[in-house]
Amino acid sequence: MRAGIYARHSTDKQGTSTEDQIRRCQEFCRFKGYEIAEIYRDEALSGAHIENRPGVNALLIGALNGRFDIVISEDLSRISRDQADTANFFKKMIFLGLPVETISEGLINELHIGLKSTMNALYLKDLSDKTHRGVIAAVLRGGVPGGKLYGYDLVHALDEFGEPIRGKRTINPEQAIIIREIFETYASGQKLKHICDDLNRRGIESPNGSKWAPTTLVGSFVRQTGMLRQTLYNGVITFNKMHYRKHPENGKRLPVLRPESEWISVPIPELAIVDEGMFARVQRALDVRSSKHLQRKLTPKVMTDEEKRDISIRRSKEWRRNQAITTKRANAVFGGKLYCGEHGHKIVATYARHYSCPTKGCHNRSLNYDQIIILVIKAISTLDQDMILSHFDSAQMGKARTRLEREIDRSKQELETLRASVNKVIEALGPDARSHEIRAFFDDKSEQIHRTKLDISRYQRELAETSIPKSLDRIIARHNKLLAKLRVWSRDPEAVTPLRQIIDKLTIHATWDEANRMWQRECKATFDFAALIAADKRHSS
Ligand SMILES: [Zn+2]
Repeated sequence: MRAGIYARHSTDKQGTSTEDQIRRCQEFCRFKGYEIAEIYRDEALSGAHIENRPGVNALLIGALNGRFDIVISEDLSRISRDQADTANFFKKMIFLGLPVETISEGLINELHIGLKSTMNALYLKDLSDKTHRGVIAAVLRGGVPGGKLYGYDLVHALDEFGEPIRGKRTINPEQAIIIREIFETYASGQKLKHICDDLNRRGIESPNGSKWAPTTLVGSFVRQTGMLRQTLYNGVITFNKMHYRKHPENGKRLPVLRPESEWISVPIPELAIVDEGMFARVQRALDVRSSKHLQRKLTPKVMTDEEKRDISIRRSKEWRRNQAITTKRANAVFGGKLYCGEHGHKIVATYARHYSCPTKGCHNRSLNYDQIIILVIKAISTLDQDMILSHFDSAQMGKARTRLEREIDRSKQELETLRASVNKVIEALGPDARSHEIRAFFDDKSEQIHRTKLDISRYQRELAETSIPKSLDRIIARHNKLLAKLRVWSRDPEAVTPLRQIIDKLTIHATWDEANRMWQRECKATFDFAALIAADKRHSS
């Protein structure tokens, strides 16, 4: 489950900093096994109306875009002190199918908000039905999610409370004519290229302001984009099509198409531009034509020399473009971690497998990959038990441990005091205590107990990260296994990815060898020991 954390600094007496709140929420997520996807915050805006808080607004947009599955906050008062605001926020989350959980109150339900009767009226028959919820959400907002779309103008309108409705649209009549024309010509079997050429010749402006191109019309089949596939032209808005998944190797977030059963469709008949029959005909044609295209690609063809030359030019262009896009790809184990020993600058990739210190005249210029990788492998091989021991044995680490141990003792005492004071009150009152003030007292205390517990667990984790690991043998054995893989194939992602995580810095030193009249280079590695311990933990559990 992906969590979106919300923190707000308020200036009142109980106010804790957003940093503290976020740390506690992170610890809470760790406890619950939630993955932290987004963090939103508002600083010192206690008086501000909820709608004027950039953090809350960003959170709502994130929620609409499906960036997380649950909202986590320290307590409900962080969201708002105003009951109506909180209720409104909660309603929006319910309609988007997002639970709200706070450290103090747990999972929020309508009782927390004092909304029981109102909520009953709003709960329609089947709230577990995602489509249903999506319909209600979109209709309630009175708008259409998503950005600018060809064929429509955004309208600035207000709802019955005088609040602006975002995403409200009307049909742009001139663009609607073009859309109908495109659908008709495509359905009549005209080639995409001809349709585009014709539009360009007539000087008709394209959706992105440049020239019309086949991709504008058909987009990508995989991502279901392109004008001819735009369901809003048929009076139906479809969203929830894509979600993002972390690439296992480079950690980038990649868009992935959801199964069609999870898409959410909301009928908005007043925005239809193309009639249903025509839309269906075009969808069938798209399917047929794209499979024809695929067939053509699979059928070998006899080509003239000129055709072959054209293709090779196009391929090399494409290749160059792809190269430009993927220069940042970190597939070298030392990528982004290499430094010049003389100037302290980062050594960067320059051209075809070459790397240079940016300082002119430096000895560490135009080093090639093969040269560097040998030095780097040697440097990474220096990690041994003694190195790990001396890191954790340092005075600085000792100090950190002492501090953390003190914090843990202090927090545990605090916890005891809190518990004792609660117990004292319970004993004094007996089982029948139910007044409002007493409820407030317990709520307040239980909140403090929660906070203290989370602080303790964070200190304990940090203490584990600063203590000498018990599994030195295992850490070194795993490291050597990864090194062996790297020696076989220096770009093996199975070795490169985990090794990159534990390397802090690689510094190249050059010394002049007078006898052989050449530069001798050596690489020194420093390691990220916290990452080393974390990786070991991940693998042993
Ligand atoms: Zn240099």
